[in-house]
Amino acid sequence: MTIPQNEAGAVLTIDLAALAANYRTIVAMGGGVPVAAVVKADAYGLGIERVGPALAGAGCTTFFVAHLSEARRLRAAVPDATIYVLNGLFGAALDTYLAHDIRPVLGSREDVETFAEFCNGLGRRLPAAIHVDTGMNRLGLDLAEAALLAEPGTAALAFTPALIMSHLACADEPGHPLTARQIDRFQQIRGLFPGIPSSLANSAGCTLPAARHDLMRPGIALYGARFVTGRDPLAPVVRLDAPIVQVRGIRAGDTVGYGAAWTAGRSSRIAVVSVGYADGYIRQAGSTDRKTGAPMRVNGVICQPAGRVSMDLLAIDVTDAGPVSAGDTATLIGDGVGVDDVAEAAGTIGYEILTSLGKRYHRRYTG
Ligand SMILES: *Cc1c(COP(=O)(O)O)cnc(C)c1O
Repeated sequence: MTIPQNEAGAVLTIDLAALAANYRTIVAMGGGVPVAAVVKADAYGLGIERVGPALAGAGCTTFFVAHLSEARRLRAAVPDATIYVLNGLFGAALDTYLAHDIRPVLGSREDVETFAEFCNGLGRRLPAAIHVDTGMNRLGLDLAEAALLAEPGTAALAFTPALIMSHLACADEPGHPLTARQIDRFQQIRGLFPGIPSSLANSAGCTLPAARHDLMRPGIALYGARFVTGRDPLAPVVRLDAPIVQVRGIRAGDTVGYGAAWTAGRSSRIAVVSVGYADGYIRQAGSTDRKTGAPMRVNGVICQPAGRVSMDLLAIDVTDAGPVSAGDTATLIGDGVGVDDVAEAAGTIGYEILTSLGKRYHRRYTG
């Protein structure tokens, strides 16, 4: 359900054509290696029910989510796709994998044993991915455990290993030594499972030929945010436009907002929009006397927040933006203001800005 535009504080526009174009760009970049899509966390906040089919339309046949609940939502939207759940088995919900044709990513010995038992009970070798840790130290079997699985007669035989995967920790920093070590370790592991497809690359890994293997797994690059330090993101997918609800004049020395944290250095014009940290416009994006906040565009001019971001409101210093009145638009993301610009000003990453996008916006899908 989307909020009607005339009841919403802002309009979030998600460009599905740009999303599909980004998918095709990654396909072209990979030179023929199949490209899956990571659509966890509601497709990085953009809406899994719309993003899934748009990517399927661009040729994507394999998807990764984090939670089983996400997999079920996605299954309804893309009935024919292969869907993997990254975060391992979810307790007692094994029947759900079977009922909805969803594949778990087995990330521990316990996962492997539990799933093997389940398959034995069914008398069916259901497909699953095996996640091997190569240096992230988060999820995944260690190398010795994975090697054991590759020996004949082990629990692995009770299910069908459909994918061998691992996850890169630092590929967004070009030249980071851990990436080469992870690629090396992964190369050893995949060698133990001949004939089974393998997958290592996240978005950043897609730029490294040695990390592409049989299936790439980009997430953030699809959604138009930065995926390698110092490299331009692909096409922007998201824009956020907020109608200005009020404009006021203040005098030099007046303060704006909670904590009186921002002081006008001159006589100023302040525009207020109905967007705040409860909408995912995170508080760290605000300005204080000591810190500049996130950029935004009013009348085509780059402006700054005036003061802290409130829960439901944001004040913008529009003194240099020419005539501005209520009803005009402040573009918080778009027209050259990237998700990453907001992230950088707020001391975080594009992922967090996207996945924080709130539920009170009027959501508009184009393309
Ligand atoms: C999130 C995730 C990805 C995608 O990462 P991006 O940096 O968004 O491309 C790939 N693989 C795994 C295991 C993940 O958790």
